[in-house]
Amino acid sequence: MIDCGLYQEREYRSRNWEPFPIPPHTLDAVLLTHAHVDHCGLLPKLAREGFRGKVYCTDATSEIAQIILLDSAHLHEEDAEFKRKRHQREHRKGPFPEIPLYTVDDAKASFPLFEPVKYGEIVQISDGVRATFHDAGHVLGSSMIKVTVSQEGEHRTIVFSGDIGRWDKPILRDPSVFNETDYMLVESTYGDRIHEAAPDISDSLATIVNSTWKAGGNIIVPSFALQRSQEILYHLNELVIEDRIPHLMVFLDSPMAVSITEVFKRHSELFDKEMSWLMRHNRSPFEFSGLKMIHTVDESKAINRISGTVMVIAGSGMCTGGRVKHHLVTNIPRRESTILFVGYQAIGTLGRQIVDGAKEIRILGQHYQVRARIAQIHGFSSHADRNELFRWLSELKRAPRRVFVVHGEPEAAENFGEFLREKKGWDISVPEYGAEALLD
Ligand SMILES: [Zn+2]
Repeated sequence: MIDCGLYQEREYRSRNWEPFPIPPHTLDAVLLTHAHVDHCGLLPKLAREGFRGKVYCTDATSEIAQIILLDSAHLHEEDAEFKRKRHQREHRKGPFPEIPLYTVDDAKASFPLFEPVKYGEIVQISDGVRATFHDAGHVLGSSMIKVTVSQEGEHRTIVFSGDIGRWDKPILRDPSVFNETDYMLVESTYGDRIHEAAPDISDSLATIVNSTWKAGGNIIVPSFALQRSQEILYHLNELVIEDRIPHLMVFLDSPMAVSITEVFKRHSELFDKEMSWLMRHNRSPFEFSGLKMIHTVDESKAINRISGTVMVIAGSGMCTGGRVKHHLVTNIPRRESTILFVGYQAIGTLGRQIVDGAKEIRILGQHYQVRARIAQIHGFSSHADRNELFRWLSELKRAPRRVFVVHGEPEAAENFGEFLREKKGWDISVPEYGAEALLD
C-alpha cells in the first residue's frame, strides 16, 4: 500500500471510520511518501486493526510522521471528549461514535513498524517487489517511489509521485525526475491552477517587519509546523545576515514546529546547496541571533510581557487552534501590530475570516475588534502547480503504458487529465475512488 492518509475534508471524513478496503492483516507493507497527515494519518488505525508489516519511509519522514501522528491522536481524543460532553448536554447522539478515531496509545503502537530507508537504496518489499525512494522536494524527507514488480522474467515499473514539490525552493532539493516508467500515478492537487508570480518573499517580509517595527507593534505569523515555519526562519535569517531588518526577537511558539525543526537540524544531509553552505558557515536559519524556540506555556505567556517589536510564529496555520489564538487575542485589537498570513486559509476557518476582512472576530468565546494590519505573503506553496507538474512529467522520454491522475479534487484531476491527453496524447486515466485497474 502506498500511503495511508486521513481524510480532512468534511464531505469525506466519514471514510476515516469505514473499514479499510483491504483487510489490514493481509497487507505486506506500506510505502509512505511523506509525513503530511493526509498521507500518514490513518497508520495508527491500520496498525490497531491488524497490520503487522513494515512502514517504509525515509528517516526524516519517520521522525516527522511520529510527531504529527501524536498530535493527530491528541486532537482525536480531545474531539471525542468534546462531542461526548456536548451530546450529553443536548441529550442526543451524533453520526459517529464518541470515541477517538485512534488514541495516543494507538499512535505509539504503530511506531515500531516504521522502517527507515535511504534515497536511492533498493528495498526488497516482498517476493518480486522492489522499491526505491527519490527526493520529492515537497517537505523534508518527502519521496517519490518507484516500484518494480517482477513475474516470470517480466518486469514492470510503477512510479508513485506522492506530492510533488517545486524547483528552487529554500532548504530542499529540487524534485527528482524520471526518464521512463511503465505506469505512473501522478498527484493533481494544483492540476488546474498556476501559482501567481509572487513578489520576492524576502522583500515582502522585510517591508512588513520594518513597517511594524516603526509602528511599535508585534508581528504574529500563523504557520504550519512542517516546512512553512522553517522556510520563514530561512528568509528571516537571510534578512538578518544582510542587515535588512532590525535585530528583533523571533519566537517559534509551537511545540510541534519546534520538534520538527529539531528533525531538520538532524538531517542536514537532505539540504540543498545553499542551505548546506549556510550550515557549514555557522549561519543556520535555526540558530540566528534573536531566535528563541518556545517550549512551555509559561514561556509562551511571557512573550506578551515583552515591550518593543517581536515576531511570533505559532500554530495552527489557519488559526483553528493552538497558541496562535492567544497571540491574536493580545495583538489583533492593536493598530500597530501586524497579523501576517503565509499559507492557504480554508473556508470556515478563523484565518479565512480575518483575511476576508472581518471587522470583529470571536476567539475563545470573546469578541475582539480587528484593528491590526492584516498582511499576506504568497509564494510559499510547496506543491507543484499545473505547469510544474507538466514539466515534471515531460522528463519521461517515452510514453508510459498508462498515467493515472490521482490525489486531487475531482475537478482538478479531470482538468489535468484532459490537459495531459491533449498535450501528450498519452493513455491517461482519472480513476474514481475505489476503481480497480489491471497493470499488464
Ligand atoms: Zn504533502
